[in-house]
This record gives sequence, structure tokens and C-alpha cells, in this order.
Amino acid sequence: MSTSGSEIRLSVVIPVFNEEPGLGQLFERLYAALDALRIRYEVIFVDDGSSDRSPAILRDQFARRPDVTRVILLAHNAGQHMAIMAAFTRSRGTYVVTLDADLQNPPEEISRVLAALDEGADYVGTVRRRRRDIWWRRKASQFLNRVREKTTRIYITDQGCMLRGYHRTVVEAIRRCNEVSTYIPALGYVFAQRPVEIDVDHAERLAGESKYSLYRLVRLNFDLMTGFSVAPLQVFSMAGLLTAIASLGFVVLLAVRRLVVGAEVEGVFTLFAVAFFLIGVLLLGLGVLGEYIGRIYEQVRQRPRYTIAAVLEDGGGMESGPPIECAHRREGAE
Ligand code: UDP
Ligand code: MG
Repeated sequence: MSTSGSEIRLSVVIPVFNEEPGLGQLFERLYAALDALRIRYEVIFVDDGSSDRSPAILRDQFARRPDVTRVILLAHNAGQHMAIMAAFTRSRGTYVVTLDADLQNPPEEISRVLAALDEGADYVGTVRRRRRDIWWRRKASQFLNRVREKTTRIYITDQGCMLRGYHRTVVEAIRRCNEVSTYIPALGYVFAQRPVEIDVDHAERLAGESKYSLYRLVRLNFDLMTGFSVAPLQVFSMAGLLTAIASLGFVVLLAVRRLVVGAEVEGVFTLFAVAFFLIGVLLLGLGVLGEYIGRIYEQVRQRPRYTIAAVLEDGGGMESGPPIECAHRREGAE
């Protein structure tokens, strides 16, 4: 590694969850790409409670390149974004770039993210040039994107691509957020003053399986909508208002018909249909309300968002800190 000055310019953050088959190739390409940049960098791997040999492989890699490698081992699976949060808290670089461990975002593209940051952007989003995902996955995320943009005003063209760059100021702002569940790129976008997006290459998952099912994709977008806007609640207030107005019209119509036509008993099934539809809408509304209450509940419990089992870093000894360190929600708050 070549150094220029003592400041670490770049922290590369990589969450790892059961990525045993692909890690070797990731190391090979990642370190080669980073060494070629000729800047001072650090790579922070966060093992997100893997059950395969990933932690052991990361330990080996740390032993191989302790000068530029740091490894955070989480005690339990906390989710990709909490894993990234754990690394953000410990990152030292002026710029922080996040990357998936599965080589879907080529490490060679980091230089382009860096160039955009150098040009003054404080958040660099990426758009996959040729998405190598199956078609329904593409369509599903397109649809969910539209809905999300309408409700949250967060414009992220390609939310599935985690190769992203953040300036330290944005990372610090993200760190101060104590949200229990969050989506890091959206937070970054919210705090950025000069967000940009660039095109990047996208490859198929090198090895192993995607940790995200369609269900999780839907959940992520639902999380985004409830986490960044109250529009879903307002939709139900509006729907309630409109239904009430329509019902009032219906009552007036029935009253008039009662006077003109006399007593009627026809249309019982229509009534059922209308009633069932409204019950359905009502339950959906209750569900949306539940989403918000669930978030509030998780937040007030104040449980640690992630638990650090060990940190491997140079200088600080092999295992720094107490064996189990809890990162409480208050971490980073003044
Ligand atoms: N990941 C993680 N914790 C999880 C799920 C995933 O740290 O609970 C990591 C995973 O190892 C990978 C990245 O997050 O580096 C993206 O996961 P994946 O490739 O499965 O998602 P996809 O590319 O299919 O959206
Ligand atoms: Mg992937």
C-alpha cells in the first residue's frame, strides 16, 4: 500500500453474511483495485453473524493484511444495514464506500465512486448499467421504486445496488441516527447536500445465494415508506374521509328511494360485497397503523441494535474491548 499523508482517505465497508464461497475472489480483486488507487485506505469487514466459515476466512485475511484490514464480528445476525452501521461507527476515512461481498458490484468501480466524491459530491449513488437479475425482480423493484418515490421524496434510481460513496459529514449524520431499522442509502440521501448518481457495472452473484427473497424486497420498501414518511397513514385518513362522504350520499339516495319507491329488500349481496370490501380496507389500514406502532415499540424498547463479539484491528490487539460489546441506540449521541 502506498501512503500519501497520514489521513485515511477511504474506508471500504463490506457486510458479510455466509459468503464463504466467494470471499477468496473478493479479496483478490478488492485489494488489487484498492492498492492501484495509491491512496491510504482501510477495509472494514463486518461479519453479520455468519454460520459458515466466513468469520474464520476474515480472520485469515486480517492476518494477511493487518495494515489495511479491520474486521468486526457481530454476535448475531443484525441485518445488512445494521452491519454497515457498526462499520460506519468505527470508520476513519474521509470517504466511506460500501460494497456487497458477493462481487455483484465490481471492486474496480470504486475508483469511479471516489472520483465523483473528489469532484465534490457528498453522496454517490450508483445505477446498475445492465442489471443481471431475473426480469420479475427488475419489474418488482421498478414498481416499488415509483411508489416509494411518491411517498418519501427519496430519489434513488437503483436501490438494490449497495456500491455507494459517502462523505464523512454524511456518515457522521447517519451515525447520529438511532433508528432501530433503517436503510442506509436513503439516510445518506436525506443528509446529503450534493447527491449524485453514476452508472456502474453489475455482475451476477458470484457464489452462494441471494439473502433477499421477494418478500424481503417488499419489506424493505415498506420499511422505507414507513421509516421516511407518514404518507401511508394519510392515505388511510383520506380513504376514510372519501368513504364517509360517499356513504352519506348513499344514505340520502336510499332515503329518497324509500319515499319514492317504498320499502326495498333487493341488493343484499351488493351490500355484502361493499361491506367485505370496506372490511378489507379497514384491516389494511389497521395493518399500516400496526407498522408504525411496531416501529415505535421497537424504538422505545431501547435494545442494542447490534452486538459486537470481537474486533480485529492493528494496534488495538487482536480482540479489542470487552468480549461482548453492545452498541446501544444511544451510541454516538451527544
Ligand atoms: N448481508 C448481511 N446480512 C444479512 C443479509 C445480507 O450482511 O442479513 C450482506 C451479504 O453478505 C452481502 C450483502 O449484504 O454482502 C447483500 O446481500 P445479498 O447479496 O444477499 O443481497 P442482494 O444482492 O440479493 O440484494
Ligand atoms: Mg447480492
